[in-house]
Amino acid sequence: MSKPVIISGIQPTGNLHIGNYLGAVKNWVELQNSGQYEMYIFIADLHSLTGMQSAEERRKQIKTTAAELLAAGIDPKKTTFFVQSEVDGHTELGWIFNTVTHVSELERMTQFKDKSAHQEKNINAGLLTYPILQAADILLYKGQLVPIGQDQIQHLELTNDIGRWFNNRYGEFFGEVKPLLTKIPKVMSLLEPTKKMSKSLGQGHVVELADEPETIETKLKKAVTATEGGAGAPGVQNLLLLLKEFGDAKLHVKFVDDEKNGTIRYGDLKTALADAISKTFADFRKKRAEYLADEKKLQKVLKAGADNAQKVADKTMTEVRKLVGIK
Ligand code: ADP
Repeated sequence: MSKPVIISGIQPTGNLHIGNYLGAVKNWVELQNSGQYEMYIFIADLHSLTGMQSAEERRKQIKTTAAELLAAGIDPKKTTFFVQSEVDGHTELGWIFNTVTHVSELERMTQFKDKSAHQEKNINAGLLTYPILQAADILLYKGQLVPIGQDQIQHLELTNDIGRWFNNRYGEFFGEVKPLLTKIPKVMSLLEPTKKMSKSLGQGHVVELADEPETIETKLKKAVTATEGGAGAPGVQNLLLLLKEFGDAKLHVKFVDDEKNGTIRYGDLKTALADAISKTFADFRKKRAEYLADEKKLQKVLKAGADNAQKVADKTMTEVRKLVGIK
């Protein structure tokens, strides 16, 4: 019996931070290692064109993101790991899906509204049609499960709508995709803990997986704790959550108790957390540097992944072209 197909991707728009790790990458590695799925993980460079990166930055970041995902545990022997633009089919299927999707369906997407607000000077059509390319990314491989958080449900529903609109017009072909909803912690910014940790907020707000221990310590020292009134402050809750994820369970319980009793020392919490994060990613930092120092090896891994993905994509596209009447 064939295993359920899982697909997910990440944009190469910056170094991975602990929010990306706890919210996505860690889960991918666990799913991959469970051996229960046929996994596809890709670097969404075509999606990144909707943003403001320069060509030079993009080229560099694709490599870095690849090195980081491998260093974080994506294993190309277990997962088809590739760069989106290296596989023909994503853009073609995306275009075909453009022609079965009504504009009003795209305008409803909350992420479109959010993203447009973030880059008022560059509200390109790609921001609007982004979820169509996402549908193509998934359906090109006949994806069955997509690991997502609550905020991505709307896009996945659209993927299923698009599959249905295609089927209604050209004949039954695409199956249903289901969300693999994992309870993922929402990591908050260090400096503005009411906002989600995001690289778009700036360096001081995030801890990158690649940060050296001294940098982690410096960033955490500046983290906002209880300026807004003691127990339950979002900054403190965020640090405690991170300690739970990265630190020793007993230590976490001790700081939670201290907080309840009002005896917590934020300086100690920050030191303990900095130490826990540094240790968690010591091996990551080493492997990341190794991959970045061996570009040939990195290219070889990505080429093998793209070749593998291409075979599957070609099968789908041969059928799709026949169905729509262009072959
Ligand atoms: P960023 O907001 O830093 O640009 P992305 O939007 O590229 O990050 O997110 C990539 C993945 O990481 C997505 O699956 C997203 O849900 C997850 N993610 C990003 N930030 C966080 C966070 N603060 N907490 C939990 N998950 C996050």
